[in-house]
Amino acid sequence: MSKRDYYEVLGVSKTASAEEIKKAYRKKAIQYHPDKNPGDKQSEEKFKEAAEAYEVLSDDQKRQRYDQFGHAGVGGASGNGGFGGGSMNMEDIFSHFGDIFGGHFSGGFSGFGSKGQHSSGQHVRRGSDLRVKVKLNLVEIAVGVEKKIKVKKQVSCSHCNGTGAVNGSSTSTCNTCNGQGRVTRVQQTILGQMQTAAECPTCGGDGKIIKEKCTFCNGEGTVREDEVITINIPAGVMEGMQLSVSGKGNAARRGGVNGDLLVLVEEEAHPELIRDENDLIYNLLLTVPMAILGGSVEVPTVEGKVKVTIAAGTQPGKVLRLRGKGLPSVNRYGTGDLLVNIGVYIPENLNKEEKSAMEKLGKSNNVKPNASASRNFFAHFRNMFE
Ligand SMILES: [Zn+2]
Ligand SMILES: [Zn+2]
Repeated sequence: MSKRDYYEVLGVSKTASAEEIKKAYRKKAIQYHPDKNPGDKQSEEKFKEAAEAYEVLSDDQKRQRYDQFGHAGVGGASGNGGFGGGSMNMEDIFSHFGDIFGGHFSGGFSGFGSKGQHSSGQHVRRGSDLRVKVKLNLVEIAVGVEKKIKVKKQVSCSHCNGTGAVNGSSTSTCNTCNGQGRVTRVQQTILGQMQTAAECPTCGGDGKIIKEKCTFCNGEGTVREDEVITINIPAGVMEGMQLSVSGKGNAARRGGVNGDLLVLVEEEAHPELIRDENDLIYNLLLTVPMAILGGSVEVPTVEGKVKVTIAAGTQPGKVLRLRGKGLPSVNRYGTGDLLVNIGVYIPENLNKEEKSAMEKLGKSNNVKPNASASRNFFAHFRNMFE
């Protein structure tokens, strides 16, 4: 399923201010809030969609990347298997409400009579994100590639199913927080009493105390292991782009939500082709006879060599454009071109015979440039300096 444009999701224009975006999101969040639409899957999807759009558009850096690269730039490239898919969990969404609705309570969603799993204030842990770099060559970038990467990461302990407790051993409710996982502190401030919630120091936010810890993971619920992760890299990515594979990061302590795997793209220089966004540039040096007489030369592309016809009388500085022989856009808005910059190699050491051939040629009036040839030839230099 392809993703909707984030601006469209929130119903704002591409030039909307931060305040407009916040306002638009607040409206959608209220409209589709699960408490107002119990059991309505469609509302829930809309609620999540809006939260994801807000998450990106409210962050200057992410918004910039989204404007430039679309969903792929912020880890949401659809249809590429494995990229994000925007699976923000509800806990993440609710954690944003503090700054949207101006509440004092982190994670607490006040004012809408939030029910169910969120009302307890229990904190769902999220594993940390994992960062890896992948080096790609232009051929891989041109078509997209599947990469298998071995990473060392925290995975759920198989002996205790990530609970941290020995099989069958029971847990007891934490007395400090009464199983809430959070403790509320009341502070006196000049504005009056302020309540703040903090993670319970006794149970570390679990709300439960394990009676007998799993010995394989020492009660953590996670162990460090190697994992081979398959990453589908879409065609057209660029150096410095970051893709995120949701849920492939570190596992959280005692059965929380996995972090994401963040993949930083590095581009290997091609020995002959130079990248300019989605276009590729190839510098081609012709021999003097080839420039004069014309003929056929081979030019490298990401798909192998292609034959290019050189017209008789080709001037240095001429640029041939091979349409569609560049790189695809990561947003799939077409494909770039291959630009062949033509230069002419002037030989430096001629033998007697070659010299005399040149001298003979030099005597001909036909080789002298006239005014219009000179004007055409230097036209692009003028553009460069004006
Ligand atoms: Zn364990
Ligand atoms: Zn506790």
